Amino acid sequence: MSCTLIKGNEIASELYGEIKDRIDALRSNGHSLCLAFVLLGNDPASEVYVRMKDKKCAELGIASTTFRMPYDTTEEQLLRKIDELNRDKNIQGMLVQLPLPKHIDEDKIINAIDPMKDVDCFHPYNVGRMLIGKPLFLPATPAGIQQMLIRSKIETAGKHVVIVGRSNIVGKPLAAMLMQRGKGADSTVTVVHSMTGNLSKITSQADILVAAVGKPNFITADMVKEGAVVIDVGTNEIDDPSSPKGKRLVGDVDMESVKDKVSAITPVPGGVGPMTICMLMSNAVAAAEYAFSNQAQK
Ligand code: NAP
Repeated sequence: MSCTLIKGNEIASELYGEIKDRIDALRSNGHSLCLAFVLLGNDPASEVYVRMKDKKCAELGIASTTFRMPYDTTEEQLLRKIDELNRDKNIQGMLVQLPLPKHIDEDKIINAIDPMKDVDCFHPYNVGRMLIGKPLFLPATPAGIQQMLIRSKIETAGKHVVIVGRSNIVGKPLAAMLMQRGKGADSTVTVVHSMTGNLSKITSQADILVAAVGKPNFITADMVKEGAVVIDVGTNEIDDPSSPKGKRLVGDVDMESVKDKVSAITPVPGGVGPMTICMLMSNAVAAAEYAFSNQAQK
């Protein structure tokens, strides 16, 4: 079977064109945009993520400020910083880079962010709105997956989507989004996880299979239906002595065996990853649009 590669980079660049138009519209009305990142400690992966987001803001002409706080920052100090950012009218969106150090209650921090500035869409208010189909924001990775399906003209209505993984940032919100009424949704969704029995029997019924497991090459050809569409969310670093860095990024899907059986698949890297950051930028612009339209109504 001939397999189409769903290229996240290409879809993201189309979306960035639309995001730039929205930024221009805000500017032409005299509005400037600023996104705040809060980073605790110096976890190398978190540093990389924040740098990537910061760089993307610069490319788009969105101002951004990173507040670096030491690893031993107390919960109270972090809550004070969030309160300050909530009240700062020059900042329309913010995110606290996760994971946080163990001595800080992540839920308490997420709950403290003003939902109107919650560009990650992690606040329970925003999760609830998304669940009832009236979102302010959509979580970036699931939104990126949905856009990939829509823009690749992959039908979702009436299709059986099986999602492997039930995390709060990927599996659960994606299931909630794909079961809504509307474009890029109307699916019949099954979510499977580590306690699911006979996993491959369920995954091999999927018209669209989404792997968000965090285990390299976990999904093999025998677990997918002939002609299915496969979305690989996984980003796993594995040892590769043949690569200059000695490491290489692979997904949760065994691309080599699966690609000959399916109709379309997302590559890793270059699939879901670039879409995630793109949808985060879209949320940042949405936060500014809300802020300025609320100001106009006051
Ligand atoms: P997570 O929080 O670790 O969740 C993993 C899920 O996989 C859990 O629900 C777990 O089940 C399930 N699982 C683990 N082993 C399993 C097994 N043997 N059989 C069936 N299910 C199993 O991961 P996540 O945050 O959703 O991320 C998943 C992957 O996506 C990671 O590689 C992450 O790096 C990547 N990711 C990529 C992007 C991107 O932009 N490309 C964004 C987010 C995440 P239980 O709940 O039962 O433990």
